[in-house]
Amino acid sequence: MRKPWAKFPFGRKKEIPAGLYIKCEGCGEMVFKKQVEEKLRVCPACNYHFRLSARQRIDFTLDQGSFQECDADMTSGNPLEFTDLKTYPDRLKEHQERSGLKEAALIGHGRLEGKPIIFGVIDFAFLAGSMGSVVGEKITRAIEMAIEERKPLVIVSGGGGGARMMEGVFSLAQMSKTSAALARLDDADGLYISVMTDPTMGGIAASFASLGDVIIAEPGALLGFSGPRTMWHAVKMKLPEGFQTSEFLLEHGFLDMVVNRSDLKPTLSRLLDYLPVNAAPESPGQPDQAQASSAQSKNSHRK
Ligand SMILES: [Zn+2]
Repeated sequence: MRKPWAKFPFGRKKEIPAGLYIKCEGCGEMVFKKQVEEKLRVCPACNYHFRLSARQRIDFTLDQGSFQECDADMTSGNPLEFTDLKTYPDRLKEHQERSGLKEAALIGHGRLEGKPIIFGVIDFAFLAGSMGSVVGEKITRAIEMAIEERKPLVIVSGGGGGARMMEGVFSLAQMSKTSAALARLDDADGLYISVMTDPTMGGIAASFASLGDVIIAEPGALLGFSGPRTMWHAVKMKLPEGFQTSEFLLEHGFLDMVVNRSDLKPTLSRLLDYLPVNAAPESPGQPDQAQASSAQSKNSHRK
């Protein structure tokens, strides 16, 4: 007897080539990967900003081929001889192989729409972008380069882990070290633009990421000190909906702007035009009257 369903045109199931679609973490939809890539890894349906690697961030922010990395070979020691399930050096090696980076931060010289800047970026893929002594040292060196070369500094943070527990107090010391360096940059009348991306938490949020002359964030990013669950355990009260998002923090005066990724480069370029860093005075320490007054007017404009 003919099977009753034989008249239905069952054919071979058509297969979608793997990797053509990706699931959006924002709206849960399957979205066409090529469209996401074309929008600099932003969901075309809901504007969810996917996380970027440090290399992608450099490609999307700086002029093509302009990035020249500094201190590329700096790696962490193991000052506390820390071991959990693995030794800290083994864990570093694993993350180096997985991410293709030596450490979570990259710093260097670059150009943004032709303007020379000092650029730093934190990659979440390397030990959750946590700030160990190498990240702190690299960020500090980037700040010092900005002071010495009188160039604007742009740092893109995305370090969810905050401090790096495997380095204990050495990690915590990086908060004051980077903050002190930024105070020197401020004394030198430099310019620092901080860009916070998802997620910027812990020691990074509590130090250099929050100390920009201008602080920008990408939409929907998680920004804060400790995670919502830890906060709830500490304060035992209902926290406002979305209290650690870019939009909430903008509304409460913590950020200057929330900028879509596609607008980030032109926005940074405009800010660099509006807030130029003065060229070095001819005789150091003896700025002439005109430079002193222009520095003053820039400061009053910015603060
Ligand atoms: Zn989406």
